[in-house]
Amino acid sequence: MLLDTLSQTSGTTSPFDRYFLSAEPESLAAYQEAIALAQQVLLDDVRNHPQPYSGQDPRALEQAIGDRFSDPFFEQNLQQILINVGEKILSSSVRVAEPTCMAHLHCPPLIPALAAEVLVNATNQSMDSWDQSPSATILEQRLVTWLCKIYGYGAQADGVFTSGGTQSNFMGLLLARDRACRDRLGWSVQQQGLPPEARRFRILCSEVAHFTIRQGASLLGLGEQAVVPVKTDAAFRMCPQDAAEKLAELRCQDLWPIALVATAGTTDFGSIDPLEPLAAIAREAGLWFHVDAAFGGALILSDRHRPKLAGIDAADSLTVDFHKLFYQPISCGAFLVRDRAAFELMRVHADYLNPEGNEAQGIPDLVTKSVQTTRRFDALKLWVSLQAVGRQTFGEMIDTTITTAHQAAQAIDAAPDLELVNWPEINAVVFRYAPPALRQDPAARDRLNQINREVRWALLRQGRAVIAQTQIGDRVYLKFTLLNPRTTLAHLTDLLQEIQRLGTTLEISHG
Ligand SMILES: *Cc1c(COP(=O)(O)O)cnc(C)c1O
Repeated sequence: MLLDTLSQTSGTTSPFDRYFLSAEPESLAAYQEAIALAQQVLLDDVRNHPQPYSGQDPRALEQAIGDRFSDPFFEQNLQQILINVGEKILSSSVRVAEPTCMAHLHCPPLIPALAAEVLVNATNQSMDSWDQSPSATILEQRLVTWLCKIYGYGAQADGVFTSGGTQSNFMGLLLARDRACRDRLGWSVQQQGLPPEARRFRILCSEVAHFTIRQGASLLGLGEQAVVPVKTDAAFRMCPQDAAEKLAELRCQDLWPIALVATAGTTDFGSIDPLEPLAAIAREAGLWFHVDAAFGGALILSDRHRPKLAGIDAADSLTVDFHKLFYQPISCGAFLVRDRAAFELMRVHADYLNPEGNEAQGIPDLVTKSVQTTRRFDALKLWVSLQAVGRQTFGEMIDTTITTAHQAAQAIDAAPDLELVNWPEINAVVFRYAPPALRQDPAARDRLNQINREVRWALLRQGRAVIAQTQIGDRVYLKFTLLNPRTTLAHLTDLLQEIQRLGTTLEISHG
């Protein structure tokens, strides 16, 4: 047997063969067995737990997982290890593909993407330098070119895959800051750090923009004080009028607006800021215009809803997440820029990775466009998914979720004890349990807040639904984030009835 092996292969077997995927027969067999075991544990879990959650609270779950999981060496047999993981960890995971698992922008992943992940993981290409990802670099670049095109960018555009919206927004603000320093002050932040004038820099975004805009400003040394919230209208969209007024006020105070950030799909309400007028304001004022389309960017695939993104092509930079409405496994996102010259502001060279001569020789090292070094080949799963699902079906999935969100909003609006907050522009619906008698009563505010918190928690404890809670002003609300095209109105009307029943019961016990 050993001799057979030796003659078939390079002639060197190692005691570690069964741990690493290679052409060695022992390695191939070990890989196939391990993957089959993992698949079996997964499918058993999916079959046996058709509920979004097990219902355990954090303390019960700590106990159920038990002490053995504190010792990484308590078990050596892979089959047993995976069975333990299935019993203790998978069994109390949230099941993102269940129709009533709809708290956050947390999507069910597409099956073709799961298949692609197997290849991404096993081949383990790293996107920082070409010599770690030759063909992967080319595929990521092609996909970036395609993305730039569908968002209406011209030939100067470029981009890079990112870990998600947080990183993409950070990069947008980074370029905005560094361009302002270079163009207004002849100052290189890369070389010199922040100029004294940076204390005056201001970034405008709507009051319901994602918190990563404030976080980005803070990490970039501008401080959260640099972020100026602009008012929104009744549909939670930024008011261009107020943006213009804020700009004028800032100038009067000798503060320097450097960027305007619009959101295409706010996290709570799915609202889309009016991109065209905002782009015009930004252009007029010489601001960097960043569009955070982490959530709403997927509408570009829908013939029906694409017009909602009109004006997105005017963005200097753009955030898109694929682990939301593009149904990719975490993590997967992109950062795009209208003019690739902007990446000059953050370019780095490391002699060991991307020596200066590489570019002249036509060797593309994507690290020059990223704040990450080692980076996954996430582009592959999106590439496989786009082809396997097709543009039309992608569009239909998105359309279905938006239609369901509208129907849910109608059902909420028609239910006497529920109060609807927004007519959804995309697929997030915010509402609360609030019988009309208590709705207007300021004295009932805390009680209603408590009831709504407990309704959400009760649904989680029943394992029946995972929904979100959010706050507007001093009021607590519930939220459905309807990413899953398999979620139907019937699922939601059932759930809304249960929410009303729970609310009524809690109202009596809190009365
Ligand atoms: C989700 C989200 C983000 C953050 O993205 P991550 O992928 O979670 O890092 C930023 N902006 C918006 C509008 C989002 O919905």
